[in-house]
Amino acid sequence: MRILVVEDEPALRSLLVQALREDGYAVDEAADGREGHRKALENPYDSIVLDVMLPFMDGWEVLVRLREQKATPVLFLTARDAVADRVRGLDHGADDYLVKPFALAELLARVRALVRRTNGRDSPKINLGEVVIDTNSRQVLRDGLALPLTAREYAIFELLASRRGELVTKSTIYDHIFDENDDSLSNLVEVHVSHLRKKVGKNLIQTRRGQGYRVPLEGEPATDTEGT
Ligand code: CA
Repeated sequence: MRILVVEDEPALRSLLVQALREDGYAVDEAADGREGHRKALENPYDSIVLDVMLPFMDGWEVLVRLREQKATPVLFLTARDAVADRVRGLDHGADDYLVKPFALAELLARVRALVRRTNGRDSPKINLGEVVIDTNSRQVLRDGLALPLTAREYAIFELLASRRGELVTKSTIYDHIFDENDDSLSNLVEVHVSHLRKKVGKNLIQTRRGQGYRVPLEGEPATDTEGT
């Protein structure tokens, strides 16, 4: 999953970016409202962490303009615990807010909850029958034991499983698991998926050659699986 952090204070911004990366997200950053607005429109983020007080364009305006075009979930960071600020944020289309200063653990939990809701889930666990994905601990479990997935393999599997039944194209995968500074070639997605299928079970990820990948729905026969 890919997150945008819009925060002008360099120390806080790098702290947030680092913490989110350690939590397994691909993370882009913006140091002012204008840059944040541009990136928010350009890229398909799974969630945006948006500070209110920003140079060039404040967080309110970024949010209002974003909502004219996109429903990307937004966690608003307000500078003070004023009811009016929180009401204004929520009324303008923010999905959640945090008051500065906040505990990093709480921010990470709120981002996880936003990403979960975006994907239409109430539970942090995705049960695929043979395996269960625990999105809090970022593990894939079979019979209670964690499978040895790399961070990238995990990220791809969570994305595919979140869209169970849908065909997910390689470019969608690329957009959601690599950040803007990652110059890895997109064909690496094929390599990751190939390894992933061997680890989680080939019947859990169908390959549609030239199109993408799909986690089959429960009880669906694995008839159209091709390839590696
Ligand atoms: Ca600020």
